[in-house]
Amino acid sequence: MADVNVDVLIIGAGPTGLGAAKRLNQIDGPSWLILDSSDKAGGLASTDVTPEGFLYDVGGHVIFSHYKYFDDCIEEALPKPEDWYDHQRISYVRYKGLWVPYPFQNNISMLPKEDQVKCIDGLIDAALEARVANTKPSNFDEWIMRMTGEGIANIFMRPYNYKVWAVPTTKMQAAWLGERVAAPDVKANVRNVILNKVAGNWGPNNTFRFPARDGTGGIWIAVANTLPKEKVRLGKQGTVNKIDGEKKIATLADGTTVKYENLISTMPVDKLSATLGNDELVQLSKGLYYSSTHVIGVGIRGERPERIGDKCWLYFPEDNCPFYRATIFSNYSPHNQPEASVKLPTLQIADGSKPSSSEAKEGPYWSIMLEVSQSTMKPVDEENLLRDCIQGLINTEMIKPEDEIVSTYHRKFDQGYPTPSLEREGVLTQLLPKLLDMGIYSRGRFGSWRYEVGNQDHSFMLGVEAADSIVNGAVELTLNYPDFVNGRKNTERRLDQGPVAAKLPTRSK
Ligand SMILES: Cc1cc2nc3c(=O)[nH]c(=O)nc-3n(C[C@H](O)[C@H](O)[C@H](O)COP(=O)(O)OP(=O)(O)OC[C@H]3O[C@@H](n4cnc5c(N)ncnc54)[C@H](O)[C@@H]3O)c2cc1C
Repeated sequence: MADVNVDVLIIGAGPTGLGAAKRLNQIDGPSWLILDSSDKAGGLASTDVTPEGFLYDVGGHVIFSHYKYFDDCIEEALPKPEDWYDHQRISYVRYKGLWVPYPFQNNISMLPKEDQVKCIDGLIDAALEARVANTKPSNFDEWIMRMTGEGIANIFMRPYNYKVWAVPTTKMQAAWLGERVAAPDVKANVRNVILNKVAGNWGPNNTFRFPARDGTGGIWIAVANTLPKEKVRLGKQGTVNKIDGEKKIATLADGTTVKYENLISTMPVDKLSATLGNDELVQLSKGLYYSSTHVIGVGIRGERPERIGDKCWLYFPEDNCPFYRATIFSNYSPHNQPEASVKLPTLQIADGSKPSSSEAKEGPYWSIMLEVSQSTMKPVDEENLLRDCIQGLINTEMIKPEDEIVSTYHRKFDQGYPTPSLEREGVLTQLLPKLLDMGIYSRGRFGSWRYEVGNQDHSFMLGVEAADSIVNGAVELTLNYPDFVNGRKNTERRLDQGPVAAKLPTRSK
C-alpha cells in the first residue's frame, strides 16, 4: 500500500508540469498531484535575485506564443495591464566593432565592403546550387551552406552557432529548423547593399512582453498559484528519488510513496531513466546530447549609456568574448534592478582594479545578463568565466573599463540546451514509446528533448496535451508534429470553453 494514490502523478513544476496540472485541474476528472524538488515553481524558466537586488532569468527568456490556451493561462495568472511591459525587439549582432541589425544574414549591407563581397558571392553560389539540389541537407552545416553560402557561413552562421550550441554545425541535424532561421533573399540583399539600406524586422518575436515584477519566474509562480495548494508539493516533500516502473510507485525524498496510474515526467529523460533504474533506457538515453548554460549577470552603477540605448538582446559570434548573447535585462523592467535611491558599494572597477572607496553610494543602476555555453566539445574555464565575461564586455564596448560594478552573478545550469544531434531522433523514437508502454509520458524541454518545441509555450502545451492524451486519447500534436504547430495559430483549446469543447483528433484505438 502506498501513502498516496493518484490517477496522474506529475513530476516537475516547470512550464510542462504546470501545463499538465492546469489541464487536469480544468478537466476535473482524474485525481492528480504535482511535485517539484525545487522550493519554487518555474524550473528553467525561474528567476534569481542577487543579494544587491538584481534579477536574472536563466538566460534571455522571451515569450512568443503559438497557442491560445497558453495565452489564456498566462493572462489568468497575471491579468492586470500593469503586470507587463511591452517591448519592441531591438536586436543586433556585434561584428568587427559594428552593430549589424538582426537577422545578420538579411543585413549584409551593414558589413565592410570586403565582407559584403564574400557574402554576396556565397549567396549567389547557394542560389544556383539550390536550383539543382534534389536532396534534403543531411546536417545543419549543409543547411547553412545551402541557405546562405560560404561567406555568411564563415563570418556568422558557423562561429555563432558553435558558440550557442557548443557543438560543431556538422554534428547537428537540420530537420529541427522550421521557422527559426531567416532565409536570406538574394535579390533583396543585393538591393540593400546597393542602396545601403537595412532589412525590416523579421520573424516571430519582433514584439514581446515581459513581466513587470519578479522576472520570467514570476509568471510561473503566478500560474502555480492558480492551482489548488494541496495538490502542489515543492522541496524535499516534492523530490522524487526512485520510481518503480512496474509497480507504478514513486518514492519521495521524505519517504512518502505515491502510487499512480499514469506518470507525466518533465525531468530530463536521461535522469528519469536512471531514477527508474532501467538499464536499457539508461543505455538508450546516453545517445542524447546536451549543452550546459552559464548565466552571468553584471550590475553597473550609472545611467544606461547612450551606446546601449533600448537594445534588448545582442549576439556575439566573434572570439573576443566568451558569451554568445547579452541581454540588457534592466531594459525589460525597472524592477529588474534596485531603485536609484538604494545605496550599494562598488565591488570592483570593470578593468579588474579595486574601487578607491568601500562607501555605499546611490544608483541609478543598469544590468547586463550573459549566456555562455559549455559541452564536452566546448570546454569553458569555469573558475575565471566571470572575469573573462567582464573583459569580453569591455572588448565589445558594452561597458567601459572605468565602470563601477556593484553586483555580479554566475550560475551554471548543467542541462541548458537539448542538442538536435544527428542521433537524437534515433534515440527518441525508441525511448519515448518504451516509456509510454509503462504509462510514463516523458515530456518537456529535456523530458522529450526536442529543442524546436522546447520553449515555454511549447513546453506548457506538451504538458496540456499529455493530460488530454491520458484523459481523452487526444493526439499530442506538439510532440509529434513540431512544424505543424509552429506554422499556425493553435486555437483549439481555450481555458473558458471547457476541457472537451475542442474537437481534438484522437488516437485510433
Ligand atoms: C538559456 C535558456 C534560454 C531560454 N530562452 C527561452 C525563451 O526565450 N523563450 C522561451 O519561451 N523559452 C526559453 N527557454 C526555455 C524554457 O526555459 C523552457 O521551455 C522551460 O523551462 C522548460 O520547461 P519544462 O517544464 O519542460 O522543464 P524545466 O523547466 O526544466 O522543469 C523541470 C522541473 O522538474 C523538476 N525536477 C527534476 N527532477 C526532479 C525530481 N527528481 N523530483 C522532482 N522534481 C524534479 C525540476 O526542479 C524542474 O523544476 C530557455 C531556456 C534556457 C535554458
